[in-house]
Amino acid sequence: MRMNKSRQLAIEKLADNVRDECKVTDYGFQNIFEAAEKIGYRVIRYPIGIDAFLGFALIKDSERIIFSNSSLILSREIFSIAHEIGHQKLHLSEQGLTMIKDVDFSDRDVSEIEANYFAACLLMPREKVAKFIRHELKNKSIGKWSGLNIARIQTAFNVSYDMALIRLKALDILDDTLMDWLKFEKLEKTATRLLNAINGNIDLCKSTEAKKLPAEYLEWVISNYNEKLIPINSLKSALEYVDLEVEDIEVLSEEPEEEDEGFEDLLRRMD
Ligand SMILES: [Zn+2]
Repeated sequence: MRMNKSRQLAIEKLADNVRDECKVTDYGFQNIFEAAEKIGYRVIRYPIGIDAFLGFALIKDSERIIFSNSSLILSREIFSIAHEIGHQKLHLSEQGLTMIKDVDFSDRDVSEIEANYFAACLLMPREKVAKFIRHELKNKSIGKWSGLNIARIQTAFNVSYDMALIRLKALDILDDTLMDWLKFEKLEKTATRLLNAINGNIDLCKSTEAKKLPAEYLEWVISNYNEKLIPINSLKSALEYVDLEVEDIEVLSEEPEEEDEGFEDLLRRMD
């Protein structure tokens, strides 16, 4: 399965527009989580486990929600957010499909190929990669590249070592032989040590286990509780998601009977 040229160009353009909208002037996003919020998405991050699904894009009550599993290493979580923005821009609509859940990011169908392509263009635009090679790597000839050069690209663009290789190959900057050699070098030295060696961003190789829910969600849960629309147990389980306890926030007491849908149910429905 391949995308045709005009679709490919349309996706590149869309990714460029999103970078503009997010005012990205560096090579990579400083903070793609905040950037996604600034352009109107509700970003939810939660460490649901290394073997759980990777993320989802959802439209719920006219809200556009992006979820990413923060048990993944940061560079992969950044890719998840970029991929889910792709689904939001390309595949979801109020009238049509309202949810896509990603167990993995394999190119299993057209919409996955497109979301992956969007993410690649968003995180590592062709022109920016060319500029980095020209300005930062001083046009070092490709045959002389080592894993350290990939680690520098990783740090500038905030991507995983593997994603950097895949993108450089897709842009015809690396050929198969060189790519295999650089993959081997990573196995030998591991990305973290390569990043360390250049004083790069080693956080990219760790998971953040971040727990981030929209502030509005918590306010909504608390006000529902105060208005006696949800029982204290629902409030407790909602707060547990962000490591808070009922005592940590100011609420009125007295227990109502009815259950309401909370974030827990939302997550459960994704399984
Ligand atoms: Zn997907």
